[in-house]
Amino acid sequence: MSLTMEQLVNYTKNYGFVFQGSEIYGGLANTWDYGPLGVELKNNLKNIWWRRFVQESPYNVGLDSAILMNPTTWVASGHVDSFTDPLIDCRSCKSRHRADHLVEAHDASIEADGLSMDELERIIKENEISCPTCGAFDYTPIRTFNLMFETSLGVVDEKAQSIYLRPETAQGIFVNFKNVQRTSRMKVPFGIAQIGKSFRNEITPKNFIFRTREFEQMEIEFFCKPGSEMEWFDYWLNASVDYLDDIGLDKDKIRFDEHKPHQLSHYSNKTTDIQYRYPFGFDELWGVASRTDYDLSRHQEYSEENLEYQDPVTNEKYIPYVIEPSLGVERLFLSVLDSAYTEETLESGETRINLRLKPAVAPYKVAVLPLIKKRHREKAQEVFGKVAKHVMTFYDEAGKIGRRYRRQDAIGTPICLTVDDESLEENTFTLRFRDSMEQIRVKEEDLVTTIEQHTAL
Ligand code: ATP
Repeated sequence: MSLTMEQLVNYTKNYGFVFQGSEIYGGLANTWDYGPLGVELKNNLKNIWWRRFVQESPYNVGLDSAILMNPTTWVASGHVDSFTDPLIDCRSCKSRHRADHLVEAHDASIEADGLSMDELERIIKENEISCPTCGAFDYTPIRTFNLMFETSLGVVDEKAQSIYLRPETAQGIFVNFKNVQRTSRMKVPFGIAQIGKSFRNEITPKNFIFRTREFEQMEIEFFCKPGSEMEWFDYWLNASVDYLDDIGLDKDKIRFDEHKPHQLSHYSNKTTDIQYRYPFGFDELWGVASRTDYDLSRHQEYSEENLEYQDPVTNEKYIPYVIEPSLGVERLFLSVLDSAYTEETLESGETRINLRLKPAVAPYKVAVLPLIKKRHREKAQEVFGKVAKHVMTFYDEAGKIGRRYRRQDAIGTPICLTVDDESLEENTFTLRFRDSMEQIRVKEEDLVTTIEQHTAL
């Protein structure tokens, strides 16, 4: 079904997935906190990604590099000079806009990404594109705005050094290329994967958790021999799509945006964005870019460290080419919820929200529910203790059983485990499945294996 953004925001807030950041102080614009369900969902998405792309991959190893890096890193990477967006102010209402977004909102057929400031200015003037906030047509000239968050390192003001919060996790990988390659004895082709927070001072953060100033990325930098990069590009694009499919993204809401030559960054010889149809329309979810040897060459130049790789068989020396699949955790979170959310009318005429998450992705795998609180509580608590050692388990004894089922359906719990009189007498329990609502009876000793079988990926 198609949800509006407002429905999705309300749903995530009411059920404890996402809260406004610092809410009791009136909030801090564009910051979000992840509640009990949100943190579990996020962790599951990250863990499955890590398992797929590190644990089960014959090619990749992991890394956790620092957020704060030597500032020369960002000069070498090009971020100091060119990690900018075109900023335009409305003189009338003082609102700020991204000039490329104004152009694209005016005419979706224009690909504003990659247009020069002069071209953007010309299009805005010629078409008299008015301010989306107040309707006036009275702008300042376009200027570039660097998206990196600057802060200072050190306690004494005069000696403090200006540094940046990383705007991507990728550069932490590039500067560790030699360390990782040497210590883990990896041979090209191989990749380094990392999950971590990144920060961008976005001009117009918007669409809930889609574009925020603080977000988390799951990135791989895959090093390969020059000339083989297109083959590896296809490999990682396909692997990315398989992962999305496995975690339950609606295939019909995915499309590919292969960048045209004028849209490519100067260092890239191919880039394809995997886009998702969010409630506000199609936009980027996962960028896959072939980055040539740009990053390693630049770091070699600025650090004066030799970052060449020597092929152990042919003794050939070269700077590896790089394929980078880069995925935002929050955008994935949004698309997974959007794909899973359904409202159903049951045979009884009752309606239910059924969050059809893949069981492996669901925050809780099972909910333990004593049928009658007083009579079945003790046994239910004992079962909770056993099952919770293996999977995330919720315990709920309050209210009518039907309503407790509905609540678990609405948060995506794939199995409800009910404790009743038969459980006390014969040590058997009812397992009820979320989507089919089918019920089976399971002996206590088989509970954990049955639940694990039904909730594995
Ligand atoms: P956009 O064009 O939407 O600003 P981008 O092309 O700048 O994104 P990349 O630099 O390719 O994004 O970053 C890789 C991934 O990180 C994106 O595909 C997205 O999932 C995520 N990401 C980037 N910026 C943000 C942000 N401000 N908020 C949330 N996620 C982000």
